[in-house]
Amino acid sequence: MMTKPHNNPIIVWFRRDLRLKDNAALACAAECGRPVIAVYVHEPSEMGNRSLGAAQAWWLHHSLKGLAAALEGIGSRLVLRSGSADAALGALIAETGATSVFWNRRYDPSGIAVDSSLKEELTRTGLTVRSFSGQLLHEPTCLKTGAGGPYRVYTPFWRALEASGGPPEPVAAPSSLATPERWPLSESLENWHLVPGKPNWAAGFSTVWTPGEAGAHDKLARFLAEGIDGYKAKRDYPALRHTSELSPHIALGEISPASVWHATRGLTERIAAEDVLHFRKELAWRDFSYHLLFHFPDLATKNWNARFDAFPWENTPELFERWARGQTGYPIVDAGMRQLWRHGTMHNRVRMIVASFLIKDLMIDWRKGERWFRDTLVDADPGSNAASWQWVAGSGADASPFFRIFNPVSQGEKFDINGDYVRTFVPELARLGSAFIHRPFEAPKATLSAAGIVLGETYPLPIVDHGKARARAMLAYQSLPRAG
Ligand code: FAD
Repeated sequence: MMTKPHNNPIIVWFRRDLRLKDNAALACAAECGRPVIAVYVHEPSEMGNRSLGAAQAWWLHHSLKGLAAALEGIGSRLVLRSGSADAALGALIAETGATSVFWNRRYDPSGIAVDSSLKEELTRTGLTVRSFSGQLLHEPTCLKTGAGGPYRVYTPFWRALEASGGPPEPVAAPSSLATPERWPLSESLENWHLVPGKPNWAAGFSTVWTPGEAGAHDKLARFLAEGIDGYKAKRDYPALRHTSELSPHIALGEISPASVWHATRGLTERIAAEDVLHFRKELAWRDFSYHLLFHFPDLATKNWNARFDAFPWENTPELFERWARGQTGYPIVDAGMRQLWRHGTMHNRVRMIVASFLIKDLMIDWRKGERWFRDTLVDADPGSNAASWQWVAGSGADASPFFRIFNPVSQGEKFDINGDYVRTFVPELARLGSAFIHRPFEAPKATLSAAGIVLGETYPLPIVDHGKARARAMLAYQSLPRAG
């Protein structure tokens, strides 16, 4: 079926931008007044050069449902197709007579490769292809050092971002979309099997998360009302709800970082300026991570600092398993790993502690941790995950120095003072008092037995001695060749 040339449909290809508000590609297509065909393509490798993790696949399922309902709400539809982007979009173009394809840019290496070659191919065949920004506060190419190169250090990156005046104003969601004369067929979301069957290991996710654009805006509203006040000081305490919990929504683009940024404007009348500033700086860490990934596409697979290529990893499978299952005998580590398993997330402070423990106490390659997080986090994000793991490992750009080895006991005592976070996720320690909640292995027998704990039976003994593990890690680090 061919429509009149000036009224040929525009395909809007949704990717990590599963929203109607502040969606530049969709807004521009809507403004053209031509029929819009919104499509999501389930690509075989859609997370950069790595596959979609299981936890985020759960999220994606629900998010696509939400997007489809939102599009229906404005008289349109979401068409689902699977396969490589060029085959899926090629078929859709042939079926619908579309002459334009719009999308919002993505910045992971294989996404960029797919998009560039597709743009070239479609343009060659006479289609109009337009790409827009919307996944980041700033395009990774737009902030440059004085010498014209990419930033390697966060603070000057932040200064440049701040000096640029912040991201553009968000654009409104379209109130309606023109429809094609005939809708192309859509695949069934259920047939993609993105959610687990039996056993349903994601059952706990929906107790804390509502994927979708509406859920994202609810989280933002809660945070602005209750969380941002005191953010700078309290964001490090995992038992408190003083962070936004927006990361999975941002990761799949249900809310744009620009919308979040602009929502904090005008808050300083009632919120300390340092809280607002600190929150914006965290949003900027995400941009910095993408900036690194864009300019150094091997960020998830290669040490940024090649000096670490010689690191003598031990990679003991049993120890990795104990870490992943939350059975290390260090309560704050176990609580974090079990929160990850139960809710598909983990508080930022605890992410740093468990990552340090894996890399430095267990001498397991950071890439194994990066992979585990990618599979189990609902907010798995190609830029932030890779950059953060390299940051903890000490091998990354502007990384934490290797010798900053987190002590899991003192970190627990400092940031989970009463042990509330540990008790939530490690119920077998629930009756242990605050004095020993982070060091059960030092508790007197009577204290343990009063709390119903038998170490080595109901809760593990530590799988390594932190003091010795720290010394071993430092020796390994000192054995590395000096920086050239
Ligand atoms: P808030 O404190 O409310 O921050 C607001 C937003 O800023 C977040 O939603 C997020 O988009 C961004 N942000 C905050 N902190 C960081 C940071 N350190 N780096 C980059 N962006 C940040 N974040 C991810 O989104 N995806 C990941 O896959 C991911 N993997 C990580 C792995 C490790 C080992 C570590 C230490 C951190 C990782 N982070 C990752 C960063 C951080 O832990 C999460 O962004 C944060 O916990 C999300 O919670 P929030 O939304 O409540 O954050």
